[in-house]
Amino acid sequence: MKRRPIARIADALLNARSLLFCCHVNPDGDTLGSAMALARAARLLGKRADVGSSDGVPDIYRFLPERERVLKEPQPGAEYDLVAAVDVDGFERLGAFGPAARQAPLYAVIDHHVSSAEEGMVDLRACDTSAAATAEIVFDVLKALKVPLDVEIATHLMTGILTDTGSFRFSNVRPRTFAIAETLAEAGAHPGPIFKEVYERRPFSTVKLLGLVLARCRQSCRGKVVWAVVSRRDFEEAGAKEEETEGIVNHLTTVATAEAAVLMRETLKGDVRVSLRTAGRLDAQEIARKFGGGGHRMAAGCTLPGPLDRAEAELIACLESLAQALP
Ligand code: AMP
Ligand code: MN
Ligand code: MN
Repeated sequence: MKRRPIARIADALLNARSLLFCCHVNPDGDTLGSAMALARAARLLGKRADVGSSDGVPDIYRFLPERERVLKEPQPGAEYDLVAAVDVDGFERLGAFGPAARQAPLYAVIDHHVSSAEEGMVDLRACDTSAAATAEIVFDVLKALKVPLDVEIATHLMTGILTDTGSFRFSNVRPRTFAIAETLAEAGAHPGPIFKEVYERRPFSTVKLLGLVLARCRQSCRGKVVWAVVSRRDFEEAGAKEEETEGIVNHLTTVATAEAAVLMRETLKGDVRVSLRTAGRLDAQEIARKFGGGGHRMAAGCTLPGPLDRAEAELIACLESLAQALP
């Protein structure tokens, strides 16, 4: 991305003494890896730096070197010169850290989503929708800071890139993604072991849940819309936690006819969390935005009020009408 926003963010990080890097709710490898890499770099520069993740660190990301330092809620009395939202813009997706971000003397956004934000509220913005992962932008920021790329930082950034690109296979991968990955691998962060940590050290319950959910997947509009739902009963039957639905939607996208693939899960609170993927003809971000969410053209999310069957009917009807209108 352009040098100026990167340089501005780098300057602001250098001038701050105490920093907070915030992850989005339902955190993934990109928001966690990017925020942890930034916090580690800031600490290497002699600053006080925290990572805030309102929903903690899912078990599949427990191998990340900086996981112990992640806060689930703001520490009482903690004050920061700079608060940055990482892989997210919009205070409402920062969970318990929303107020800290709002009150920050300096609020920055480092992100690769289509922006939905409070324009006037953001002091500094390094956003690039062509980046495959926020970790790519963070890579440039750390380069501008001249922080040495140690194996820990490289591992965090590689995790962000690996998970947001579906292990380098999604259409968001660009030549630069490989150039950055090459440097990260040279620094000791090989993708193979990271893949193993994230995707191949699952509890039995994750595989059991996958089976239950896929066995009941549905289609309509001659296969253009493919979806599955996960109810509280499914979680109980499999003995699985909410975070264990991660990745299930990617199985639905493998259906050849699918223009839209959706996974809906009933949360503990009773609302319905939606993961939406499209083949590119439908704009996932635009659809998710209708329901108060957002994301990218081919991957987006939103949360609907329960009950599950009503949310399912509403969302699928919307997708069916869009899919039917396709030439
Ligand atoms: P997920 O289905 O949770 O993997 O999310 C897919 C993409 O959409 C990710 O890039 C998320 O960060 C983004 N996303 C998910 N939910 C929301 C939301 N409520 N608002 C904005 N972006 C979202
Ligand atoms: Mn993310
Ligand atoms: Mn991301």
